[in-house]
Amino acid sequence: MKPFEYARAASPAEAVRGFAPGTMYLGGGTNLVDLMKLGVAEPERLLDVSRLPLDAIEQQPGDRVRVGATVRNTDLAAHPVIRSRYPMLARAVLAGASGQVRNVATVGGNLLQRTRCTYFQDVSRPCNKRRPGSGCPAIEGDHAGLAVLGASDACVATHPSDMAVALAALGAEVHVTGPGGDRIIPMPGLHRLPGDEPERDTVLEPGDLITAVELPPPPPGASLYRKVRERSSFAFALVSVAAVLDVRDGAVAGCRIALGGVAHVPWRAERAEQALIGGPATGEAFLQATEAELEQAGPLPRNAYKVPLARNLIVATLEELAP
Ligand SMILES: Cc1cc2nc3c(=O)[nH]c(=O)nc-3n(C[C@H](O)[C@H](O)[C@H](O)COP(=O)(O)OP(=O)(O)OC[C@H]3O[C@@H](n4cnc5c(N)ncnc54)[C@H](O)[C@@H]3O)c2cc1C
Ligand code: SF4
Repeated sequence: MKPFEYARAASPAEAVRGFAPGTMYLGGGTNLVDLMKLGVAEPERLLDVSRLPLDAIEQQPGDRVRVGATVRNTDLAAHPVIRSRYPMLARAVLAGASGQVRNVATVGGNLLQRTRCTYFQDVSRPCNKRRPGSGCPAIEGDHAGLAVLGASDACVATHPSDMAVALAALGAEVHVTGPGGDRIIPMPGLHRLPGDEPERDTVLEPGDLITAVELPPPPPGASLYRKVRERSSFAFALVSVAAVLDVRDGAVAGCRIALGGVAHVPWRAERAEQALIGGPATGEAFLQATEAELEQAGPLPRNAYKVPLARNLIVATLEELAP
């Protein structure tokens, strides 16, 4: 591993002031340190933000909840307010990684973890995300776990966070402070599609620090997070779905669907949502809406299985949520 300096910030403002080219913020380190060991990330300086006083989960006016960026994944999933009012979020967090990793991983770091594309993690191979312009071997090679929606000729990577999928369905807001000041980024919206700049995972600028995630009041209806993976724990999603369904008098009054494991972003299934609102809450309607969404899919030969997998998962989840 390349030698690096280590410093600890005492406040968000000190962290932003202390940020310079070659610096990377350090959360729990469960992704960044792995990437440093692999030579994928080579910061000259780590600025530890994991002990900033941003570790509270607090009720806010307007029935909102603010989750600090350094809250550990375990504490988020175990918090009584999250468990009782946002069970889909608790379930998504618990579906990720392992107990040991979740004890250390932070909310901010979870949102900014990098893709698990095998070529991205192998510095002996080209990769447009790691080395822009070097090519994307995944397109002709191993793309079985990669994107079927919103991919580009430059990159077909997927975003790996389960938490981000639930936050996208809930319409959470990400609070950021940085050299350009403070701003609030609605989810989905933090992450970006690869286009011809796959090296940029998010809309954040250098030095931007995530300080919190704010949850709006829980949407009416029942909610669920379901994840399909190759083994029952310690595995990233092949496809996951975070769904909220509000049915009144047999008709869909509200619906939110976000997908994980299928795109470079947590994918909000807006076409399916629009197709469902106002219509009957039946299996046939769920199937038609899902197919309208997945018409946009552009799978590669070895990940085409994700399209029927996503369709079946969405339909089964909505059927489970329907009264
Ligand atoms: C074996 C294994 C299996 C896993 N399985 C899953 C899974 O199934 N689902 C899932 O969702 N996750 C999974 N994870 C990922 C795990 O959840 C992430 O590693 C973790 O959430 C990252 O959090 P961290 O605080 O350790 O981030 P770090 O590794 O410290 O940082 C990650 C990135 O975020 C940046 N950063 C950190 N905090 C901030 C901040 N406040 N503001 C701005 N930038 C910041 C860092 O600079 C870095 O670029 C797995 C991890 C491992 C090791
Ligand atoms: S899919 Fe993206 S991350 Fe993977 S090799 Fe291609 S450019 Fe790199």
